Amino acid sequence: MKGEFELIRRIAERFRAPEGVTGIGDDCAVIPQMSGKDTLVSTDMLMEGSHFLLSGTGKGRAISARELGWKSAAVNLSDIAAMGGRPTGVFLSLALPPKITDGWMEEFMVGFKEICDRFGVVLLGGDTTASPDRLCINVTVLGECPSGAARTRAAARGGDLICVTGTLGDSAAGLRLIASDQTEGREGGFDGQKDVAEQRNCTTGREEERYLIDRHYMPMPRVEEGLALSGCEGVHAMMDVSDGIASDLQHILRASQSSDVDQQNDGAGLQPASTGTGLSAEIDLNALPLSDELLRVCEREGWDAAELAVEGGEDYELLFTMAPGTEPPIPCTVIGRILSAGEISEPEGQSATEGYDSRTAVQVTPGEIRWIGGKKSDYRGFVHF
Ligand code: ADP
Ligand code: MG
Repeated sequence: MKGEFELIRRIAERFRAPEGVTGIGDDCAVIPQMSGKDTLVSTDMLMEGSHFLLSGTGKGRAISARELGWKSAAVNLSDIAAMGGRPTGVFLSLALPPKITDGWMEEFMVGFKEICDRFGVVLLGGDTTASPDRLCINVTVLGECPSGAARTRAAARGGDLICVTGTLGDSAAGLRLIASDQTEGREGGFDGQKDVAEQRNCTTGREEERYLIDRHYMPMPRVEEGLALSGCEGVHAMMDVSDGIASDLQHILRASQSSDVDQQNDGAGLQPASTGTGLSAEIDLNALPLSDELLRVCEREGWDAAELAVEGGEDYELLFTMAPGTEPPIPCTVIGRILSAGEISEPEGQSATEGYDSRTAVQVTPGEIRWIGGKKSDYRGFVHF
């Protein structure tokens, strides 16, 4: 197969969303209602072996039942946050292999309900079926926002500042710790008979490692932040960071330029970079918001924090663009700028370090990102297949 986005584009081109409906290509579908509100819908699947490990592979700490319940809902709620909406309901579908016990399922639902309660969301339905081997979880989330208030990926404008909430790279570092078996005092392994206390015990001895792993296993969707941002006029495009900003920001660039150039439902932002006119971006890698925990672990392990922050996914922070001069209603960090077609990227001297930066003005290819101040000239986000 030609990769995830080419596949989705091919699926998308068979359908055309009705007038006024945002269809395939954004974090949620946006469906206008008679009530004057818009309904938001998104769905995400978590597959054992691809998105999480239940059984001990000899490496890292397996996700606990409670954490998996939390995460299954969290990644979906994050897509509502990404549009600036309020989540209202969820549907939960499960394909359960024989190894899943009643006790494990109980704990899964504890985590699932915990986060639903936190955001006042109720479970409205789902589907349950058997699976021969692997656990598969699908969640669909519903949300709402005032008519026209949803922030899509397609709304970035030349000259916008690029901003993120929270810190980047923590989840990717947590995953790397889990996968590389570098955590201390960890047990791990799947045991459907164990109670939740024992499962929760499978943690590392080091505070900062625990923090990073928690960020990976129990992400917090930025629902309140998204709502505040969608109420702010100067905020234009928005999405959540699920694949790393190197990949996610490109979706904003491509969706925004395609909405200029081509009004058709082409799976907004799913087509390859335009070679003609269109938006590009510059990102100052020295401006990235990084947690102390990430910096401590990176220093100890010799990892490049900037690389984890832009290439690693699953931070579930909000990435958005806003007009210069906008007072953001929530704490956030400006990390770069959207460049108009033909605009020259000329970074200010003080933002560049000894790292990669020719300091010369360049014209950035439409749909592409110029990385300033890092160790490499190019960064790539997570690719599913
Ligand atoms: P996110 O990471 O925000 O969940 P994805 O990258 O999973 O978004 O999906 C991108 C877009 O493609 C979304 O609008 C999603 O609804 C759509 N999409 C993904 N897979 C399919 C599919 N099999 N059929 C139709 N639309 C899909
Ligand atoms: Mg998303």
